[in-house]
Amino acid sequence: MTRSPDAVVIGAGVMGGSIALELARSGLVVAVVDKAGAAGHGSTSASSAIVRFNYSTRDGVATSWESKHCWQAWPDHLGFVDETGLASFQRTGMAVLDTPVNPRGPVIAHFDQIGVPYEQWDAATLRRRIAGIDAGTYWPPKRIDDDEFFQDAKGELGALFMPDAGFIDDPQLAAHNLIAAAQRLGTRCVFNATVTEVVRKNGRVAGVRLADGTRFSSPVVVNAAGPWSSGLNRLAGVGDDFTIVVRPMRQEVHYLDAPHEYSVASRFGPGIADMDLGTYMRPAPGNKLMVGGTEPACDPLEWIDDPDDASPSVTSEVYARQTTRAARRLTSLAVPVGAKGVAGVYDVAEDWTPIYDRTELDGYYVAMGTSGNQFKNAPVVGRIMVLLIERVEAGHDHDNHPVLYVGEHTGNAINLGAFSRKRPFNARSTGTVMG
Ligand SMILES: Cc1cc2nc3c(=O)[nH]c(=O)nc-3n(C[C@H](O)[C@H](O)[C@H](O)COP(=O)(O)OP(=O)(O)OC[C@H]3O[C@@H](n4cnc5c(N)ncnc54)[C@H](O)[C@@H]3O)c2cc1C
Repeated sequence: MTRSPDAVVIGAGVMGGSIALELARSGLVVAVVDKAGAAGHGSTSASSAIVRFNYSTRDGVATSWESKHCWQAWPDHLGFVDETGLASFQRTGMAVLDTPVNPRGPVIAHFDQIGVPYEQWDAATLRRRIAGIDAGTYWPPKRIDDDEFFQDAKGELGALFMPDAGFIDDPQLAAHNLIAAAQRLGTRCVFNATVTEVVRKNGRVAGVRLADGTRFSSPVVVNAAGPWSSGLNRLAGVGDDFTIVVRPMRQEVHYLDAPHEYSVASRFGPGIADMDLGTYMRPAPGNKLMVGGTEPACDPLEWIDDPDDASPSVTSEVYARQTTRAARRLTSLAVPVGAKGVAGVYDVAEDWTPIYDRTELDGYYVAMGTSGNQFKNAPVVGRIMVLLIERVEAGHDHDNHPVLYVGEHTGNAINLGAFSRKRPFNARSTGTVMG
């Protein structure tokens, strides 16, 4: 007879994969269930997978900096070499252009404390370091059908540059790597399996039931269901004590040919976070450029009730606005007719800061609200969730005395209270994907 798992993880995305790996490493018998057919087929598959370190909280910065070191040593992090192939970290650097909503000062203070290298660029440096960039200030972002969109720049802007930023070349493969590493340690993965019930017994979680009636009994259940997480919480009957609302939001990312000069100096040009125009860009293999959006106030937001209802096709409207903004910044970027790209769904917490926490249902934990900016943090999220689960299951009162995680690579302490479901709204957040 198969032993009941010590922990069930719902979701085999990059988060569920990482949590399962670390739970298995801690000696637990783990089961992962996912309604999709394979690892990383949820929102992870659409991720731009940018690795950067500018967040509005000290703990957000510390988490991303620690995670970078995990990505950089990916085979060591996994503990084995996956024959399917390994995702890899591409170091490109990233320039965060100045705007009134992301002042450099607080971020630099965190960087100094945590040890994140950075450079401060003026407009001349920006032009010198990113060939073909327009260093004009256009703030605030405008709709592209607004006449003001094409008005001359009001001045010039500089940037905060993070030389160690980059991207993961294949986010879906990264999730597969994590799941394969967990399986190697005995984790059981069940795909095409939808959780339809979170089972309770004597006031705590007792397992999950699948659509086909199969039941997994377990004293610990982790909701790592990405944009489906709030729906799952409703199923579990939790959420009343959350101070932060989490909702799914549809997003698109488009692919273009990178301008010739952009990638000349190095193999890949640097990523650009451009809240001044409302866009972000990063290089991609094959001399491509990926272009996304930063939720400028002038654009409608595509909130959705059910992630399964999100159209997977990119639209000409979103393509036009995101790529036109990118072409305003990278002046020789050509925007061909015919949108190419991917559509995905963010799991947006109202302050764009994730929730990694216990819940009011003993034994039921959440890694959710990843807000379009937590792919990069997945390696560390696995570790912090396991520490949290160990401490809370041993009786620790995390709600009143938040657990501290100390990064293995950087030695930085991360206060997990920053990711509490009961935290005060993070008022320093940019209110966008930048967190
Ligand atoms: C377009 C886009 C761009 C992004 N860009 C970046 C970026 O540049 N940098 C960055 O750091 N982050 C980025 N992100 C965010 C990042 O990709 C996500 O935070 C991360 O991938 C979420 O992983 P996850 O495992 O939590 O969710 P998912 O990958 O969505 O996995 C959840 C899984 O749960 C399963 N599931 C759901 N409900 C059930 C159920 N009832 N029963 C069984 N299984 C269930 C789903 O099938 C799915 O596989 C981006 C996201 C998107 C959508």
